[in-house]
Amino acid sequence: MIRLPRRRTGRMVREQHVTIELDGRTVPVRIRHHPRARRLILRIDPERDGLVVTLPPQAPADEGLELARRKGKWIVGRLDALPPRIAFADGATVPFLGADHVVRHRPLGRRPVWRENGEINVSGGSEHLPRRLRDWLENQARYEIGCRVAEKARRLGRAFGRVGLRDTHSRWGSCSAAGNFSFCWRLIMMPAHVLDYVVAHEVAHLEAMDHGAGFWRTVGELTIDSTEARAWLHRHGARLRRYG
Ligand SMILES: [Zn+2]
Repeated sequence: MIRLPRRRTGRMVREQHVTIELDGRTVPVRIRHHPRARRLILRIDPERDGLVVTLPPQAPADEGLELARRKGKWIVGRLDALPPRIAFADGATVPFLGADHVVRHRPLGRRPVWRENGEINVSGGSEHLPRRLRDWLENQARYEIGCRVAEKARRLGRAFGRVGLRDTHSRWGSCSAAGNFSFCWRLIMMPAHVLDYVVAHEVAHLEAMDHGAGFWRTVGELTIDSTEARAWLHRHGARLRRYG
């Protein structure tokens, strides 16, 4: 997995949703009791304009909320600094494989969704546009990612299980010990070489579950420029969480 190495989401993660007042503002908070958390972690949640509090299994949720209140100013500052939200709507600019595309509502279009000349056209009623566009992006992601997983696994001579797609909150991809993959559909918005790196990273986990030297050698064999791709993710990754 990519953003939070060494952490696997087990079945024992318990989640609660609450809101707290910080600096005169109502902030949604996701409280997660994680079996492998060693300490309390506060993280900004760019999808919900909120906060994620991760706690060790036995720690009381109040401890996390107390820390959040103490750091209220800092948290609100971080939330204010998030990139603007871009809703899926007519006229919106949405990246597709790294290239900006303008979304156009074409009520009478013959196809549900099609991409042409820097535009993504969506037919049907405007109330269905967000869902139709999202479904289409997911399908494109499934195709792009699926082809690359198959090709890279073949190069390693490794079998793999399922390739699932999710709106994962903190990770772009993951690979289970059984060789099942899960990827975030938002990868389809990234430049192709970055998407390629994310896939290469997870496929390389078929050989090594750690992030040791051997693992990175394998990644290097499976994709062109992982250093640049990682820098891109670091700089722009959070922005992609703001679409739709
Ligand atoms: Zn990894």
